[in-house]
Amino acid sequence: MPNWPRRPFGNERDGSVNPAEATAVREAAERIIRGSSLAEVCRAWDAAGLLTATLAHWTPATLGDMLRSPRVAGLMPDGATVGQWSPVLPVGTWHAMCAALTARNPAKGHGAPGRLAWLLSGIATCQPCGASVAIRWVGGLAAGRPYYTCRNGHVSIPAREADAHIRAGIVEAHTRRRALLTDAAPTVDTAPMIEAVRRLDAKIAETRAAYLADAIELADMTAVTAKLRGDRDAAQSTLDSAEIATARSRSAEALAAEWDSLDLAQRRAVLTGLNLRITIARGFGWTVAERISVTDADATDAGEDAPDA
Ligand SMILES: [Zn+2]
Repeated sequence: MPNWPRRPFGNERDGSVNPAEATAVREAAERIIRGSSLAEVCRAWDAAGLLTATLAHWTPATLGDMLRSPRVAGLMPDGATVGQWSPVLPVGTWHAMCAALTARNPAKGHGAPGRLAWLLSGIATCQPCGASVAIRWVGGLAAGRPYYTCRNGHVSIPAREADAHIRAGIVEAHTRRRALLTDAAPTVDTAPMIEAVRRLDAKIAETRAAYLADAIELADMTAVTAKLRGDRDAAQSTLDSAEIATARSRSAEALAAEWDSLDLAQRRAVLTGLNLRITIARGFGWTVAERISVTDADATDAGEDAPDA
C-alpha cells in the first residue's frame, strides 16, 4: 500500500487505479505524444469537467507536474524503482510522453526522463535529509542557471559546477588506478609477453631441476641458465615498456576525453557502476568541491537499514 498523504489523480489512496481519471491520463499522454500542448489538454479536461484530486481546475503547470511524476508510471520518485500501486500509464508510454514534454520545454524536465538530463539527478543525495536531488532552474528560463536541489529545501548547488567536479574526480580516480571508464580493449595486448616471461622462468627452473637430478653438468646448467636469464630479462623489459605505454594511453587527458565522449546515460551508468555515495552538504561560502562528498557506498552502509517504501 502506498503511503500517500492524499489521493493522487489517477489512483485511489489504496494504490488502485481510478478508472475514469486513468482513462483521461492515457488519452492526455497519447495526445501529448502526438504533439498536443498541456494547455490544449487542460481545455479538454475542463470541458469534460475533470478536476484535480483536490477539486481544483487544472493548469498547464499542475497538469505537467502530475504527468511527469514517476508515480503515474507506477514508479518511485527515483523514476526506476517500482512502487506499490497500480500504474496509470505503461512505463514506455510515460517515457515517450515525458520526452515529448521535455522536447518542447527542456528546462521543465523534472520527471525521470527529465532528471536524466543532468548527471547527478536522482543519484546525489541531500546530506541533511537523504532525499535525492533534482534540477531546479533559478533565475528564470532565459538567463537562469540549473541547480541540484533537495525537495525539502536543504541544499541547492550549481549543477554545471557540480558536474565538472564529479568529472574531475572520476578522471583522477581512474588515472590513479590506470583503469578505463568503460571496458574498452587495452591498447597493447600484453598477454603473449607475460606468457613469454613465464615460459622462460619455467625453462630456468627445469634446467636447475635437471642439474639437481644429475641429468646435466654444472657448467652446462650455468651456461644455459645465463642465456635463459638474458632472454627472460629482455622479455620482461618488452613487457614493462608495453605496460608503461598502456598506462600512458590512460592518461588524465585520454580519460577526460573518454568521459566527454560518453552520453549522459553512459556517464550515469559509470557513476552507478562505481557504487558511489554522492552527498551534497549545505554551506554558505563553501566551494562546490567542498560541499560534495564522494564515498564508497558499501563502506558507509553498515548498520543502515534501507526502509521499504
Ligand atoms: Zn534535504
